[in-house]
Amino acid sequence: MNENRTALVTGANKGIGFAVAQGLGAIGFTVAVGARDDTRRAEAVARLRTEGVDAFGVALDVTSDDSVAAAATTVERTAGRLDVLVNNAGISGPADDGAQDPTTLDLDVLRTVLDTNVFGVIRVTNAMLPLLRRAPSPRIVNMSSNMGSLTLRTGPVLAAYAPSKTMLNSITAQYARRLADTNVIVNAACPGWVATDFTNFAAPRTPEQGAAIAVRLATLPDDGPRGGFFDDNGVVPW
Ligand code: NDP
Repeated sequence: MNENRTALVTGANKGIGFAVAQGLGAIGFTVAVGARDDTRRAEAVARLRTEGVDAFGVALDVTSDDSVAAAATTVERTAGRLDVLVNNAGISGPADDGAQDPTTLDLDVLRTVLDTNVFGVIRVTNAMLPLLRRAPSPRIVNMSSNMGSLTLRTGPVLAAYAPSKTMLNSITAQYARRLADTNVIVNAACPGWVATDFTNFAAPRTPEQGAAIAVRLATLPDDGPRGGFFDDNGVVPW
């Protein structure tokens, strides 16, 4: 069933995104490797191909309207449609020297983080939706974090990063409501605390473990949950 299905993963050149690409590739998806750096993207595509994954590169900077529009054209020309979009690309923003102390927060720090983690997701999603609507069972997965949970309030005080994921969760719910009467299923995922560049590799979970929930949400059945927030253990409180 998965032959000819295509998945675009943003920020797929390393970390959790690369592991999502591996995971979806292993179950038969053609993987569009969204990455902004030409060399890193080519290396990731090559590595996936050596692992037997049908992969192609898509130049993609989620903060650029032009780049995202060109990426949609690349996906359309190469695959004709899109079955899965995993909005994985994300940044923490600077955190040293109290850079994300809310009482002294530089609004440019907040803007930068929101531009990637929230506006980037909207930019990419809206550019890809026409291609997703051509698929029989389209799925969108937004890579969030339990640091965005207003109930849990986990992790250190990070006044740009944590609210960016709270807003990402909220926008996920808005998309799910708007698309409720369509076959497009949208959910948010929390990968757990994963050893990547993002965490200076000082975290207990592997990228593969972090990717698992995204792969699961990307392959939900047609009657699967919509507009939720999930990790490996089930529902994450908002
Ligand atoms: P990494 O820093 O290892 O990877 C981030 C990826 O996002 C890289 O491929 C990076 O590309 C890409 N990226 C960043 N900005 C852009 C941009 N403007 N356009 C395109 N790509 C971009 O992080 P992780 O793999 O750990 O994180 C992936 C996601 O998981 C993020 O959304 C993060 O918030 C989330 N997350 C991670 C957790 C963890 O413990 N690691 C915990 C909870 C959530 P480049 O190489 O070019 O910089």
